[in-house]
Amino acid sequence: MKKTWIRLKQALSGSCNDARQRTRRLFTLLFPPACILCRQTIIDAAFAGDAELCAGCYQKQSLNNICCKRCALPLADDAGEAAFCGRCIRQLPEYHYARSLFLYEGGIIALIHQLKFSQKISYARSIGEMLSTLLDAGDLPDCFLPVPLHPSRLRQRGFNQSIEITRVLASKTGIPIEIDAVERQRQTVSQTDLDARQRRKNVRGVFRVSSRMFEYKHVLIIDDVMTTGATVNELARVLKRHGVERIGVLCIARAPVRA
Ligand SMILES: [Zn+2]
Ligand SMILES: [Zn+2]
Repeated sequence: MKKTWIRLKQALSGSCNDARQRTRRLFTLLFPPACILCRQTIIDAAFAGDAELCAGCYQKQSLNNICCKRCALPLADDAGEAAFCGRCIRQLPEYHYARSLFLYEGGIIALIHQLKFSQKISYARSIGEMLSTLLDAGDLPDCFLPVPLHPSRLRQRGFNQSIEITRVLASKTGIPIEIDAVERQRQTVSQTDLDARQRRKNVRGVFRVSSRMFEYKHVLIIDDVMTTGATVNELARVLKRHGVERIGVLCIARAPVRA
């Protein structure tokens, strides 16, 4: 009861700086939402803010804590600090950093599938809220760039999940989001059965970038799942040719990949 009273005071206080957010916090307190993974009413939330994930489900997921410092590829438990993966040691990617909150396994696979293939667009808000915890306040980008879908894929799905996730980050930070500045010119085949050279060839020239991107020095690419990294690497390569000096990648889940 004491906890509820404290939350009620927080919901109504000036710490929530806009009226819409205050109303939403109050509504959430009076009608607690269901967790997007277990569907139970959330008693203990995993995150402050609007992410609808309970603490119990969050603790069951694998965080991508032990990973390559450059590309966020999951590494073995004993990799230690300042570790780079074998691929980055051989050849650094075009982007300068990548961060992923979770490993691509268990409930997170189900969550992303529901968002993409079962039209659960509302999940994007929770995912965006969770992703915002990965932003580095001392190294914020000039713009967010969600990975574009090919127009035919966009028509088929009706929305781009990366754009929906990015909208949350943009509204929380006030950093602009670029939606039309990069176009995907052709569909690519699945990367999973290709080797590294074939992956690079598969995505080569896939993006057309508007000269508007010359305005930015630091761009943060937003994707839902990063598997081989070839797609965001190609996007980063083209952005560099448009004058972008620092490029990061933020994704909700990182899948392991064979070297
Ligand atoms: Zn739950
Ligand atoms: Zn790496």
